[in-house]
Amino acid sequence: MLLSSLRALRSCTQQRLQKVPAGALTAALHSSPSGDGTGGGASPGSEAPQQPAAAGTTSAAADAATSPADERQRQEGQAHVISIDRSALFNPQPHSHDPALLAVQAAAAGVDKEPETELLRHLKALIQFRGGPLTLAEFMSEVLTNLQHGYYTQRDVFGTAGDFITSPEISQMFGELVGIWCVATWQQLGCPPSLHLVELGPGRGTLMADLLRGTAAFQDFSQALRVSMVEVSPHLRGMHSDSGIASSSSSSNNGSDLRPDPGPLAGASGWGGVPVSWHHSLEEVQPQGPAIYIAHEFLDALPVHQFQKTERGWCERLVDVAAPDSPLHLRFVLSPGPTPAARVLLPRRLRQLLAEQQAAVEALEVCPQGMALAEALAQRVSQHGGAALIVDYGQDGPYEASLQAIRRHEFVGLLEQPGSADLSNRVDYSALRSTVEESGAAADCLGPIPQAHFLLGLGIEARLEALMQRATPEQAEALQAGFRRLVGGSEPGAALAAEGMGTSYQAFCIAQRGLAPWPFGAQLAGEEEEGVAAGAEAGAAHQQGAAEEQPEHPPPPQR
Ligand code: SAH
Repeated sequence: MLLSSLRALRSCTQQRLQKVPAGALTAALHSSPSGDGTGGGASPGSEAPQQPAAAGTTSAAADAATSPADERQRQEGQAHVISIDRSALFNPQPHSHDPALLAVQAAAAGVDKEPETELLRHLKALIQFRGGPLTLAEFMSEVLTNLQHGYYTQRDVFGTAGDFITSPEISQMFGELVGIWCVATWQQLGCPPSLHLVELGPGRGTLMADLLRGTAAFQDFSQALRVSMVEVSPHLRGMHSDSGIASSSSSSNNGSDLRPDPGPLAGASGWGGVPVSWHHSLEEVQPQGPAIYIAHEFLDALPVHQFQKTERGWCERLVDVAAPDSPLHLRFVLSPGPTPAARVLLPRRLRQLLAEQQAAVEALEVCPQGMALAEALAQRVSQHGGAALIVDYGQDGPYEASLQAIRRHEFVGLLEQPGSADLSNRVDYSALRSTVEESGAAADCLGPIPQAHFLLGLGIEARLEALMQRATPEQAEALQAGFRRLVGGSEPGAALAAEGMGTSYQAFCIAQRGLAPWPFGAQLAGEEEEGVAAGAEAGAAHQQGAAEEQPEHPPPPQR
């Protein structure tokens, strides 16, 4: 079966490949050399989440930014601003940064402040030395990736015992099918003898381990590979190298293609012989020939700015030191007028919107690093060949304010104990597409398509069936639960919708011009394939639904 599948693959033309992955590629995957264990992370807490402190909307902190007291403070602040000519930069509030004085004031106000962590001290010092509030993007960047105190840089935050769980941790099938996508794309590229596989924000490395183990049957593909992992967290990079993940061999697996229970470095045995290097940023990864880039739940961690239309024009949401009578150390304020980002970044993004969106928009979230990344990926694939796959929760349009904080699988306030909760925003795919188009790179943007459509199109049902045949009852249950989590939500009104990531997560591709990788190509060509049509239809129908009915509040955390 393996041989015939491989033969089928080799003989595929680019035209035919669009019809093959769900069949031949996935079939070959079922026959792949064994891995070692099963996936199956437990669901995150299912209790109704607290409302996130959504930017510019309903949080107490945000309200404080526009309260009469704030307005008074703002006006006082403005007078001060004019005198020292920092009008575009900040909205200074009358407050002290002296910890002793603040403690006395808090005690006098009878308030129990939350504990002041190192990160909080650092953030307050930044505000003090800069002489005014931080942008939300600066705050987010410090909270997530500050090398000493950042959320990602200090510990392993993934999985059931962590704050959120991601698709590769939920089921091995996710990484395996992304691997199938890579093999199919490599074939469409003409099977180049050397392929650079770059993963952005790999976290524990689970996706890559499953991908490499799952595609080991495609020997020509495996032998063409070299892998670069772009991970900002020294802690996570250390976890990989400490365990010898890069040098371990697939021969150490246990004779099953089910991986062990997920945990740190689950699936590490799948790295068999493929050279792997780690990098701090994409700029460190020199493009040499065709490459495939994978960014799973990476863009949602990139810092965002939030803007709000006011009678003073477009203002920016900033993070300042809170008043002594607040239980928190930080609070949101609005800039007194347009900040540099409101003058330069916002107009660019506003110009990208449709006329009716421009007319209606009252608040807007913009992710400049995400836009810059899309442009860089488009330049790379247009100059050197290849494609980038982005999978994340998001939509094909702008958000007013999507940033949220998640701790232990529950939403918490954005400014509550910074560094102890994940901060993530939803991806505005239309911003990525517009930026790629403006760049003039010879690249196409495909999608976004629902994750359900993507995975069903790649043959997840067949993969599930094959794994089930060899699974223990416990493993079978975990596999089915993982399947439901990954593709559920694609049937409007069905019970699955509550637990699934099939629709809220979307797949997007930036490819060298004309490549149209499967199943994105199917969407372009309007093709429907046997075995795929059901998923594609459900996905397309649901994509439509998702565009029409945006939930008023974010659904429970899936990460
Ligand atoms: N892809 C993984 C992890 C997603 S969480 C998964 O799906 O399980 C986001 C990851 O991106 C973390 O590993 C975090 O450390 C990394 N990250 C965040 N900002 C980054 C940046 N600017 N550069 C590189 N990595 C970053």
